[in-house]
Amino acid sequence: MGGGISGYGSAILAKKEGFEVFLSDRGAIADRYKAKLEEWGVPYEEGSHDEERILAADEVIKSPGIPDKAPIVQQLRAKGTPIISEMEFAARYMGSAKSLCITGSNGKTTTTSLIYKILCDAGFNVALGGNIGESFAYQVATGSFDWYVLELSSFQLDGMYRFKADVGVLMNITPDHLDRYDYQFQNYVDSKMRITQNQTPREKFIYLEDDAVICAELPKLKANPTLLPFGKERQGVVEVDGKRLELDFDKMQIKGLHNRYNAQAAALAALSAGVSPEVVARSIYSFSPVEHRLEPAGERDGVVWINDSKATNVDSVWYALESMTRPVVWIAGGTDKGNDYAPLMAFAREKVHTLICMGLDNAKLERDFAGVVPTIRSTSSLDEAMQEARKAAREGDVVLLSPACASFDLFHNYEERGRLFKEWVATHILKA
Ligand code: ADP
Repeated sequence: MGGGISGYGSAILAKKEGFEVFLSDRGAIADRYKAKLEEWGVPYEEGSHDEERILAADEVIKSPGIPDKAPIVQQLRAKGTPIISEMEFAARYMGSAKSLCITGSNGKTTTTSLIYKILCDAGFNVALGGNIGESFAYQVATGSFDWYVLELSSFQLDGMYRFKADVGVLMNITPDHLDRYDYQFQNYVDSKMRITQNQTPREKFIYLEDDAVICAELPKLKANPTLLPFGKERQGVVEVDGKRLELDFDKMQIKGLHNRYNAQAAALAALSAGVSPEVVARSIYSFSPVEHRLEPAGERDGVVWINDSKATNVDSVWYALESMTRPVVWIAGGTDKGNDYAPLMAFAREKVHTLICMGLDNAKLERDFAGVVPTIRSTSSLDEAMQEARKAAREGDVVLLSPACASFDLFHNYEERGRLFKEWVATHILKA
């Protein structure tokens, strides 16, 4: 169910493994996926669900984008049909290949990309999948890899039961997506902790020891993995199976406390996979920021412009503001996911002189930061927000797009928001 990247890949893998397969998507399926399905002879439908056909299935692989409350999912559950995720399905056919799995509320993509880069630099035969890159299932169907580096969302973990990560990485747990978890934080926490499921002392669990939510879960673990914590106190020293590495954070191109966490987690994961400490260090030092994550967009007249469009929740903005070393003109706003801005107040008071709200409804931001940030402007388009930012920025400042909100009121997605930000900087600032 679902004809996106996870669905088409699963359908092709199922076909290859000799199953009778049917793919159903209530919306439209992208042309490139349809072409693949046709190439492999997988029957599919789009625009509606053929209930009879779906309810006759022995097992359903569901896209993480389809919520549990969707009527067809409810019907399947009532019938007792097993519903699994792409990861659960594809892992059955991984053979002797091993998995490095990364989850968390923030830092997944950065850490996953970093681990993948280190393994590539070390010459491993490695694939990248999950929430990032090509479909995991498609790669299992068509490739032959020794390692899979997988970015896992909580929604994917929810559909995983027998799956076992050879190396599991948990970056942090902070409130997000609560709309999909009955507004119960613990449900979301339980989902994230599934990264450890089925692990034994042979497998490794890498986690942030500075995270009180994770630490409170450790005594409850049913699994018994080898624990490899990382955190502030360790100051870049990581050690696995007697192999030790001391990271020099000053040599890294990615900045801020959060990226020190990401680097330590990636180093532990890569050492666990058998990469030498020297290669790990060299590879981390040459890693540059991933697009839309505190990505420098240019500098002119002493003002630095930074695109952090991927910061769609409060915690990621906390780390963005934490890492700022100049006075900040902060562009925020969009579709609010029930945000509590309290954790941002101290940094906002200390570092932000102008808040530019960019969204269709800015009332909550304006109200919450009134009296905290000296100047607040309300705008309802990117162009208007950027004009205000340019007016407000003085030499020595940084203009930071770090919205704390989803982008869907004004943009298709966070990528478009980030791209338009960079284009505006390129045309109206750098070339002006
Ligand atoms: P994810 O894939 O989990 O959304 P990203 O690596 O794409 O994570 O980063 C998302 C946002 O969170 C960015 O704004 C980034 O600057 C910030 N961020 C990155 N790593 C961390 C971390 N370890 N803790 C908190 N925030 C982070």
